[in-house]
Amino acid sequence: MSEPMGEEQKLLEFLYAAPVGLVEIDASGDITMINPHAMKHLLPLVGMRDAGNLFSMLEGCAPELRNMFDDFTADRGTICDGHRVAVDLGRCDDVDPKVLACTLVKLDMNRAIATVSDVTVQVAQERRLKQAETWFASLLNDVNDYAVLSITAEGVVVSVNASWEQQTGYSREILIGQRLAHSLPLPPGGGPLGAREQLRRASRDGWYLDESWHSRSDGTRYWCQRLLAARSSADGNLKDGYTVVLRDVARQDHGADDLRRLLTQDHLTGAANRSHFQQQLDRAQRASVEHGEPLSLIMIDLDHFKRVNDRYGHPVGDQVLIHFVRTVSAELRPSDLLARLGGEEFAVLLPDTEIDKAVSIAERLRLVVADMSVTTSTGKLSITASLGCALAAAGQDLVSTADRALYAAKHAGRNTVQVTCAEWLAA
Ligand code: GH3
Ligand code: MG
Ligand code: MG
Repeated sequence: MSEPMGEEQKLLEFLYAAPVGLVEIDASGDITMINPHAMKHLLPLVGMRDAGNLFSMLEGCAPELRNMFDDFTADRGTICDGHRVAVDLGRCDDVDPKVLACTLVKLDMNRAIATVSDVTVQVAQERRLKQAETWFASLLNDVNDYAVLSITAEGVVVSVNASWEQQTGYSREILIGQRLAHSLPLPPGGGPLGAREQLRRASRDGWYLDESWHSRSDGTRYWCQRLLAARSSADGNLKDGYTVVLRDVARQDHGADDLRRLLTQDHLTGAANRSHFQQQLDRAQRASVEHGEPLSLIMIDLDHFKRVNDRYGHPVGDQVLIHFVRTVSAELRPSDLLARLGGEEFAVLLPDTEIDKAVSIAERLRLVVADMSVTTSTGKLSITASLGCALAAAGQDLVSTADRALYAAKHAGRNTVQVTCAEWLAA
């Protein structure tokens, strides 16, 4: 007699300690045994209902369970497996609704056992995953031609697809090895989060999405949807790097774009205007001090430009200026800023650039300008430019310093690059 009692005791202990809700019912749903776990989930639902009957307890949120039970005519077997029951406990909207999973197994004609477990977290995760899937599908379905770029975990560009080159006008050679901030310049007048913060969020959430203006290499801009997706390493833990997808999307408010262009661009060439340059220069100088990054400036003045006007006429002179801006822009990184400061004087602001790099960029610009040829009614015409480079330094006016170098270049015979930078000259 003591043996069977011991077994039953053990079984009861097991039922009570089981980390899942267990309920034994008879053919009418009356509860013959219920463990504390099941009680915890079911009691809050009872209200005015009969706490002694499982189906009455669940009447308010899962009346179908009684029908499923009654419709099951076999002697034994599984009536339902993990049937989801959404439980409304008057929670507020921003909390995930509580969901219970219920399994009902018929043991014989007069006995069934139900398991009840809380699957709220799992259901919420499933829902979020579904939302993300729908979102990604809608993003990719509408895109015939999406531009893709890969960057390392540190934000350095390692690969660029052909659509990216087409969409932005920047070549692979220019972009590879650049930092993301240089490949995704933020629009003038602010805009979304900085590149560093975008990476941080992509790393935290798996992806980051926003929309903003982007600049092409020719200075034109387009409204662009941008997705930054974090890639995991093979072990699934560390972030291996990121994939950036750009999508050129139509946008209605061109009025705002026109206004912004009017405020920031030179009307003839589309280069940045003097006031926008000044604003960006101030911002770049502050950032340079804050992040301890070098900032360089190149001043450019076209040589003997008066002669071009005198010989070919002012409209041809205008065409040369337009051509010049297009040619120089194609040589610069997205983060560089080409501005027309007046007449035939231009400036190139180079963030995160040491003076020796600035000098080699200036030399490249000098060559492409000298190589440029503009077709006129009386034949082809060529021009040259003089360039002055300077590195931002505390207590010095960067524009005046670069201007001095430009003056030296004119004196050295034009079509040349000069530098005013003590460190560079001493090297
Ligand atoms: P230097 O090599 O010493 O710079 O000689 P330069 O002739 O370029 O210099 P100068 O400053 O004497 O002349 C600049 C000329 O640029 C004078 C002006 O007619 C011309 N210019 C200024 N703005 C424009 C413009 O918007 N369109 C055209 N076509 N010409 C312009
Ligand atoms: Mg000139
Ligand atoms: Mg001049």
